[in-house]
Parts: sequence; C-alpha cells; structure tokens
Amino acid sequence: MSKKTPFISTQDEEAIVAAIQEAEKNTSGEIRVHIEAHTDEDHYEHAKKVFDELKMHETELRNGVLFYIAVNDHKFVILGDQGINDKVADNFWDTTKEMMQNYFRKEAFKEGLVEGILKAGQELKIHFPYQDDDTDELSNEISKSS
Ligand code: CA
Ligand code: CA
Repeated sequence: MSKKTPFISTQDEEAIVAAIQEAEKNTSGEIRVHIEAHTDEDHYEHAKKVFDELKMHETELRNGVLFYIAVNDHKFVILGDQGINDKVADNFWDTTKEMMQNYFRKEAFKEGLVEGILKAGQELKIHFPYQDDDTDELSNEISKSS
C-alpha cells in the first residue's frame, strides 16, 4: 500500500497528509485519501469497496470520509460513512466536489485535494466537532494501489 507511484510526488503526499492532520483538528470525523491509477469498475462502487477494505466503517461515530481518486480516469469520489449521511443532505459534498474539480481541470491535483480536505474538515465541524479526548481512529497516511 505504500508503494511509490509516479502520479504523486513525496512532497505532494506530505502536503496532503498535513491537510488531513489540519482538517482533523476541526472535527472528530476521520478523513482518508486513496489514490490509484485506474479501475475497470464503476468509480462510486469501487470507492465503496475501498472504504470497506480500509475498515473505514469502524469509527465510533461512523464519521469517516474517503476521498477516492482514480488519476488516469480523471475521476474522484467523496464518500462519507453512515453517521454523516444520516445528518446531512445528499448534496452535502457538492460544493467540495465542485471546488476540487476546478483545481483538477487546471491539473492542480495536489492543490485540489488539499483544499477539498480542508473544506471537508470545516463542513464536518458543524455536525462532528472536535472532541478533547479525540483519538486518531484512522491513519492519515495516503492509501495507494496501482
Ligand atoms: Ca480523530
Ligand atoms: Ca485520521
């Protein structure tokens, strides 16, 4: 899973992990990023599988959020767990997605992801504020497959 892949530099990766850490200072929600080159499957369905594989449904408040990106396919999915979906409207992630798309169109991959993660942290804060006894339930490292 930590295999080096050409589509993301170490520097970009560090910036993305830093954004996750920053976002998780606002919310008890747990943000993870999974990056891969391509999938033959429907991207949304595939993101759900990745969500399960990363055991993201095991957070106490069911408030994990996955940013799934298939780089070569130019597709990404933001997937929230049950706890979030119970509280927010279906279009909850739309503004985040739109903002990220604007960056991706300009090939600003890292920037789009960083801004999207930080925005997700702000949005989650409303429903899942940071708790003093917070634990890092899900790793902030980027998950990858090729
Ligand atoms: Ca946490
Ligand atoms: Ca985390």
